[in-house]
Amino acid sequence: MTKVFFQTLGCKVNWYETEAMQKLFTAAGYEITDDISAASVVVINTCTVTAVSSQKSRQIIRRAAGANKNAVMVVVGCYAQSEPEKISAIDGVDVIIGTKDRARIVEFVETALNNRDEKILRVGKVEDITAFEELPHAPHRTRAFLKIEDGCNNFCSYCIIPYVRGRVRSRSLESIRTECLALKAAGYKEIVLTGIHIGAYGRDFKNKINLVDAVKTVLESANPMRLRLGSIESAEMTDDLIALIRDDDRICKHVHLPLQSGSDKVLRDMHRPYTTKNFSDLTARLVNEIPEISIGTDLIVGFPDESDDDFAETVEFIRAQPFSKIHVFPYSMRAGTVAASMPNQISPQIKKSRANIALEVSRAKAEEFSTRLIGKTVDIIAETSQDGFVDGLTGNYVRVYVPDENITLGEIISVDVKNLRRDGVTGAAKIISEGF
Ligand code: SF4
Repeated sequence: MTKVFFQTLGCKVNWYETEAMQKLFTAAGYEITDDISAASVVVINTCTVTAVSSQKSRQIIRRAAGANKNAVMVVVGCYAQSEPEKISAIDGVDVIIGTKDRARIVEFVETALNNRDEKILRVGKVEDITAFEELPHAPHRTRAFLKIEDGCNNFCSYCIIPYVRGRVRSRSLESIRTECLALKAAGYKEIVLTGIHIGAYGRDFKNKINLVDAVKTVLESANPMRLRLGSIESAEMTDDLIALIRDDDRICKHVHLPLQSGSDKVLRDMHRPYTTKNFSDLTARLVNEIPEISIGTDLIVGFPDESDDDFAETVEFIRAQPFSKIHVFPYSMRAGTVAASMPNQISPQIKKSRANIALEVSRAKAEEFSTRLIGKTVDIIAETSQDGFVDGLTGNYVRVYVPDENITLGEIISVDVKNLRRDGVTGAAKIISEGF
């Protein structure tokens, strides 16, 4: 059997797409391998969300090309879409596929396997991508990612994603239902809804369906023990969606609401469609209606023209917010975006020191949230096993570790939480149900 090796960078959507491409290869008679030296085909699924992601993508492509000079080398995804010329100049790359045409990856690889003399370049204009790309999918994890949407129309001033992923394309409810039935048949207990901008789900359809319809479809067809929602813009947390999260026990009491800045001036410069007041009104409402909810967020520090006072406002704001975790990103200049040509770019040293301050707030917030679990009993789904411990997440997204006493991954475990640890809590386990 011809063996294919995959390496994936970036977000949950990329991981979903990797799993889908793996399924295309196995359906065509290939075997997926973890050993790059044994592979006849190497696929790198890339990311370009920050300058560091692009640099890492290039590094990994070069390293992979050096590790196996005989394999057909395929580079796919967001970085392939943004800089195909740079990738083409790397020795050993045979096939470059952007953010469209992943469904035809096997066909391109077979052409390259038969003729290595010419590179295959499949990078079209993102404006021409108008439909959701249907891919067969077989999850490999305990938690099944389910992609319901691609693309974004927001054009936040710092973000390259709309330029490489294109406009919003939603997956039909029928297609979501079909995949959910397969996930149910396979016994998945947790489904994670993913997409680039899931709050915009349905905006490209004429029949006015929205994210609430997609969530209800998943609940009805897959009936998972847990449904977790991916990142949602605060402005898209509608009354209906909040009520659904509050009232349906299967929906995890965890939301990820990207804030990006706690200064209204910086939010305006970022072209974000809300104010700090809108945001804090929403988080106060969520905590009031769903007391156990955890709220994660993203924060960009060192955005162009962010003054010391703007940053001080941000720190004051995030300290006051009921966050359980803050993902902190030093601003990364992306060519072609509005922010890249703004004056008063911030020095790397200042970005670093601001990131450290924000991370300290995040650490304190995470510890405060996890501490609430001590002395309680929580349920997790056993996800990974390492160094004598099995770990999994609570519904409200705290990582819990228990000693590995013959626990099968996928089992539901009830845990008496005892202590804090750096990235979550530890406890004593009692198994509730068998895995799958
Ligand atoms: S909402 Fe803004 S930050 Fe998110 S993908 Fe769209 S443009 Fe980027």
